[in-house]
Amino acid sequence: MSGSLRSLRELNRLRVLEVVRERGQVSRADISRQTGLARSTVSSLVGELQRDGLVVERETAVTAQGGRPPVMLALDPGAGAVVGLHFDHGALHVAVADLDHTILAERTAELDVDHHADEGLQAAAALVDEVLTEAGVERDRVLGAGAGIAGPIDAATGTVGNSTILPGWVGIDVAGELERRLGLPVHVDNDANLGALAESLLGAGRDASEIVYLMLSSGIGAGLILGGRLYRGAGGTAGEIGHVLVDEQGPMCRCGNRGCLETYAGAGALLDLLRRSHGEDLTVERMIALARDGDLACRRVLADAGRTVGIAVAALCNQFNPELVVAGGNLAAAGDLLLDPMREALRRYAIPAAAGDARIVRGALGDRAELLGALVLVVGESERALSGRHRQAVGR
Ligand SMILES: [Zn+2]
Repeated sequence: MSGSLRSLRELNRLRVLEVVRERGQVSRADISRQTGLARSTVSSLVGELQRDGLVVERETAVTAQGGRPPVMLALDPGAGAVVGLHFDHGALHVAVADLDHTILAERTAELDVDHHADEGLQAAAALVDEVLTEAGVERDRVLGAGAGIAGPIDAATGTVGNSTILPGWVGIDVAGELERRLGLPVHVDNDANLGALAESLLGAGRDASEIVYLMLSSGIGAGLILGGRLYRGAGGTAGEIGHVLVDEQGPMCRCGNRGCLETYAGAGALLDLLRRSHGEDLTVERMIALARDGDLACRRVLADAGRTVGIAVAALCNQFNPELVVAGGNLAAAGDLLLDPMREALRRYAIPAAAGDARIVRGALGDRAELLGALVLVVGESERALSGRHRQAVGR
């Protein structure tokens, strides 16, 4: 299948790359100290990164004492750019970034991605053209594209699983379809998994190894980092917290069940509650702004959502005992208006030891976490991307 960070080795490779990125110039010994990885592991991962052309050795001045200075490593600024895509339920986000994760250009298009896969894929190809042009990046400098999709990706086939969650995407090989349209190697994963990856490597979860990442937006999903690695489950559907039962007499959910968490705490459900009092054109951003200004109805809706999510999170904490729960997605911008009721529910409904271990924080990357995760995914997989280009170059 195309594109997921399967092994611990790949995650370690990203950690090494992240230290190089962050420090600008760094020695192998310092990488080992900062990541806690053995020197031999660091050497072998650095060797791979050098072969792939992502990391280069830098000349260093001879020390005054005449001792041999350590060889310093840096990202190769000429190594290229990466493209990230996020197919959210109502919108498509596309960005191009350098290996530093600095976003060079980005675009968002509102569209009914759920029901029209073909339209979504077409729009993606057009937006990728636009961001590359805007950033002045030639296509042959792009290492690859990472795509997050708001549904489970079948681990065996790389196709979108669970037909009912994304009705228009049943059985579509997203990576293959995008590769054909973009002319780039493409790696695909569930968007909450990508958010988890980005927050754990670049954001709020950098110092934690047991993390539940919550994507709270029109869809609700979770990405689980267990023992420092992304946990996908047997078939790739781990973390579908949006479809845990809240009330079996509740509203119909797009998954075919009734009363799922998403039908109570997804952005659409919250806006529906406020339409009569606040008008048809209320947006998530506006709802949050009004709540901050003291609007009682908006505050109540966010608080109830936080509490409902918190009950599901309490169950998750009893089962997985995370040290950190990172709230992302555009609803997380409500901050403590949403998170305090969630913390209260966690204290009330999880066993005290599990509740005591788990801190609930807002993500550091905002609603860009999924997009950044898609970019991270490409760098993690760029060995394949580069070796593909290399194969082309040598005509095999
Ligand atoms: Zn559901």
